[in-house]
Formats: sequence, C-alpha cells, structure tokens
Amino acid sequence: MKIYIFADLEGITGVRCRGHVLKDQPEYPEGCGFMAGDVNACIEGCFLGGADEVIIRDGHGSGINLDPATVDPRARLIQGATPGVRYAEFEGTDALILLGYHAMAGTPGALLEHTYSSKAYQNLWLNGIRAGEVMIDAAIAAEHGVPVIMVSGDDKTRAETAKVLPTVPFCQVKSSSGLEQSESLAQEKAHALITAMTAGAVKRHHEFKPFTVHYPVTLRIEMIERCQREGLTGVKYPDPTDCRIYEKSADNLEKLFYELL
Ligand SMILES: [Zn+2]
Repeated sequence: MKIYIFADLEGITGVRCRGHVLKDQPEYPEGCGFMAGDVNACIEGCFLGGADEVIIRDGHGSGINLDPATVDPRARLIQGATPGVRYAEFEGTDALILLGYHAMAGTPGALLEHTYSSKAYQNLWLNGIRAGEVMIDAAIAAEHGVPVIMVSGDDKTRAETAKVLPTVPFCQVKSSSGLEQSESLAQEKAHALITAMTAGAVKRHHEFKPFTVHYPVTLRIEMIERCQREGLTGVKYPDPTDCRIYEKSADNLEKLFYELL
C-alpha cells in the first residue's frame, strides 16, 4: 500500500507567524523543525496503519523546507519544483494525506490564511464554488483516482474541510483567532494524535472515495493586483469591467491549474 503525504507548513503544529513560513526570516528554521515533527509523526502512522511505501512531498513555497536528515528514512522525500505536476511520482498511490494545511484566502480569524499565494491571488472558484487549497488539491488528486484520507491543520481549516470532504477525518493540531494568533497543542500531544489518526485513516483507506469533479471543469481566479493573464488563450472575463477576475474551462484540472496560476 502506497501512501502519499503532501506537506504544507502553515497548518503544522507550533507554526504561528509569518516568520515561520518565510525563508528569509530568523524564525524559519524553527518552522521547518516543527514541520519535520508532524511529518515524522504522520510517517509513523502510515507504517502502523499498514503502508509499505510512503512518499513525502515537501509542498510549501519552493518545495525545499525539510532537512532530509530530520525525516524518517523509511519514507521517500520529494523536494523542489516539479513543473506542471502537483504530485510527483503519484503513480500507484492508494491514498493521499494533506498535512499542515491552512484556510483559504479571506477566512476570518484564520492563521496565515491564503490560497496558493498571498501575494497573487485573492479568490479561486472551482466550478463556481469558492475554493481553498484543500478542495483544489483534493480535486487534482481525484483526477488521478486518489482519495484524500486525512487532513491536518487548525480549526478554521477543519471547518473548510468539513464542507469539502465531510467524511474525511481532520486532525486538528491548533486553533486560531487571527493571522498570527493561534494556540497549538503541545508537540508531544499533537504528534501522538497525528500518528494515531493517520494509522486509523490508512487502515480504512479503501472506504474513502476520490473527490467528485464535474467536467469540463472551470477555474475562476481573482488576482490581488492587476491582471497579468491577458495573453492566455481561451480565458474569459466574467465581469467586463474587472480584468483581475478571469476564468477558463478545460478537461484537465491539473493542466488548467498550472496554466492559470
Ligand atoms: Zn504553505
């Protein structure tokens, strides 16, 4: 059984400020250390649950955050850019875990909320439904026939996940009340919870179904600043007075995602 863990940073236990997620900040190494803690707890849970292959995709920013020396060597670690591919080496994957996720851009009171880029995008809609990273990533995985079996993060991400993936277990490691305001579980407690919930989810992975996406799929994007996508073919502007909002339909979401974002 092959389990794929896509790890982001904002929803990791103990991560609580911009400094923890931005490479040039003094708090960043601490954030990466926290990430290794949650990742290793999740890997442990995968093997306890019966996995015989575990892949960790280092998925925050440039994709190079984890120090390989700190990651459980039983898992394979994928780092760096994989252009046009959300889940490198996804072939044969039985189930996906979204670890350390965060709420979509604009979520009130949510820790480090954003959707893919806090500088570039204000809103994304998938087939007309406002979407954060949990929904889009679940939808791209579904295109490969892979279900999400667990998500971890804060209470705001939990509420978002409950709407998108109502039957998928959520491992809440912290609660938040602002962009840089949160209360985290103690590391030891959080790691025990991640391991236990991961093992449980992996054991019953066959009960989960891939997220349902209807095709042709439409991705609508609202940029934060001026539109930079005028040159793209097939792009429509639903509001002729606002060139920052544009959309396109296609038969492949993953391709569309990398074309538009
Ligand atoms: Zn991130």
